[in-house]
Amino acid sequence: MMKVNCIFCGYEIDVNDLFCSECGQSQRDEQQQNDEDIFVCPTCGAENAPGLNHCAFCCSIFR
Ligand SMILES: [Zn+2]
Ligand SMILES: [Zn+2]
Repeated sequence: MMKVNCIFCGYEIDVNDLFCSECGQSQRDEQQQNDEDIFVCPTCGAENAPGLNHCAFCCSIFR
């Protein structure tokens, strides 16, 4: 199981934990940012990393 450090206090917690077991802060801020950065291909609906000019799955050109 992967471990990550709490984004607030640095305590080592499980990567799937939503709250730090040490300071109790929610770890969702980072995940929500990542979700917003995902670009959904209008052609095939695949989720791509931001900044690409073509879909990594179906290769259609964006815009
Ligand atoms: Zn913490
Ligand atoms: Zn696509």
